[in-house]
Amino acid sequence: MQMEKFEVNILGCGSALPTTRHLLSSQVVNLRGKLFMIDCGEAAQLQYRTMKLSFSRLNHIFISHLHGDHCFGLFGLISTLGMLGRRDDLHIFAQPDGEKVFRPMLDYFCTDLPYQVVFHAFDPQKNALIFEDRTLKVLTIPLKHRVPTAGFLFEEKEKNLHIVPEMIDFYQIPFCQINALKAGADFVTPDGQTIPNERLTHPATPPKRYAYCSDTLYNEKIIPIIEGVDVLYHESTFCESRAERTKQTMHSTARQAAEIARAANVKKLILGHFSARIKDENVLLTEACEIFPNSVLASEGLVVEI
Ligand SMILES: [Zn+2]
Ligand SMILES: [Zn+2]
Repeated sequence: MQMEKFEVNILGCGSALPTTRHLLSSQVVNLRGKLFMIDCGEAAQLQYRTMKLSFSRLNHIFISHLHGDHCFGLFGLISTLGMLGRRDDLHIFAQPDGEKVFRPMLDYFCTDLPYQVVFHAFDPQKNALIFEDRTLKVLTIPLKHRVPTAGFLFEEKEKNLHIVPEMIDFYQIPFCQINALKAGADFVTPDGQTIPNERLTHPATPPKRYAYCSDTLYNEKIIPIIEGVDVLYHESTFCESRAERTKQTMHSTARQAAEIARAANVKKLILGHFSARIKDENVLLTEACEIFPNSVLASEGLVVEI
């Protein structure tokens, strides 16, 4: 059902530099029609158009770290949104240097931007709540990389109970009481009889969670934070034959991503942030599936339901 939609759109899943096979890191989380961007590598705005995502529904962008392959697309996107006549504030969440880097460029090139760009700084070393609205919470996941880096945990808030329509008819419950019932209230009939909530509702759908972890060295400290998530995106830049290079550059192999997924008991793993040197990512998938069978490869245009 459209109202309950919670999915992640993969715009790019390559690392370091754009190639004809992969664009750079960027994703859009769609929760009930509200769009949240994670990272904004070069060309993200083009892929955004290709995937027919709505620019007007995008109000929040989360940047994991200030490496070019995760943020070089941000400036172009901000400029484009201005040309499209955007009026609403755009909120950008990044480590404190994010504003230092981007503000001077905006001041130089975008003097007549018709909307405000609001930066929100977070501490990438902390597991903290950095955003919430009526339906969603976003928390940081401290990662280990060459520069300060955080992943993001998207967590739906507790949902309402489901009304049993036959019981509403049976007790002739007025419409104005429905929201109270969905929130757990009992119903008192006009003659004073209390009908317990359990008779009138079905349990709520459990809230879902999505974790984005890129870029990072193998790091067991994230396991308790992402424990049991419905979908985990974990970087897998290299395969095991390049374990040395993986360590030097502070990335993970596909096998390590799968080990984290298994230890954290997640439901599904998406592998991404592929090195341009890997010609066939099925090598990564095979490595991961030996440890964690429910693994898939990210690809540009892939949409995964959470
Ligand atoms: Zn990267
Ligand atoms: Zn990086």
